[in-house]
Amino acid sequence: MSDLVITNLTKKFGHLTVLDNVSVTASDGQILTLLGPSGCGKSTTLWSVAGLLKPDGGSIVAGDRTLFDHGTSAFLPPERRDCGVVFQSYAVWPHMKVRDNVGYPLKLRRYKSDALRRRVDEVLELVDLADQADRYPHQLSGGQQQRVALARALAFPPRLLLLDEPFSNLDAKLRERTRDWLLQLQRRIGVTTVFVTHDQDEALAMSDKIAVMSAGMVRQIGTPEQIYNDPADIFVADFVGTSN
Ligand code: ADP
Ligand code: MG
Repeated sequence: MSDLVITNLTKKFGHLTVLDNVSVTASDGQILTLLGPSGCGKSTTLWSVAGLLKPDGGSIVAGDRTLFDHGTSAFLPPERRDCGVVFQSYAVWPHMKVRDNVGYPLKLRRYKSDALRRRVDEVLELVDLADQADRYPHQLSGGQQQRVALARALAFPPRLLLLDEPFSNLDAKLRERTRDWLLQLQRRIGVTTVFVTHDQDEALAMSDKIAVMSAGMVRQIGTPEQIYNDPADIFVADFVGTSN
């Protein structure tokens, strides 16, 4: 059964239709990747799932919870969606130590200090940063900072993990290593994940299912093998194929 069901999602900015009836699902524990060129609506879709913006039509359901439904005017506020979000730029707070960055979502949820500390240690262990807890972000490498952002997204165990081009600030070599590492981590946690990228290699390597998007529309949905071997149209063939 699908764990995340996005149906006919529509979003306009002024006269510009940015999402045009986007429908896609992810099964429990899967990595669903939204793949497409810059400006095709990937982030808008992800932000809609997180509740950071409100679509103009359609619905989003996670398990038995309706996050958004235009038909019934349902809109669950972002803080009640339990989405762990990692953005393209690290967005870790520079004035806070690593442990305070990671503990922040727990503080918001009024964790007691003992429990908070335990959970922060646990999640820093998970992202291989146990020895960096008392440092400040600027003392860490770009890759480590991105792992701090990931730890923060995982601190309060998320219902959905949402990753918006999380590797784009890393150099090619580190990107590849981080991608393999993240895939293993996701498998261990088993959290249903939506991963956004414009990089076809990344999508092919990381995904259980890929939705290829262009101009606000989903052009094809399939496994990496299906997308690669049997592209639905010229656009998908061009974008995913070896010609790129
Ligand atoms: P992607 O993440 O695939 O690069 P986005 O979802 O960020 O694409 O953007 C899709 C389209 O929506 C782009 O044309 C972008 O310029 C436009 N857009 C995004 N956010 C806004 C906004 N707040 N106001 C107006 N247009 C926007
Ligand atoms: Mg984007």
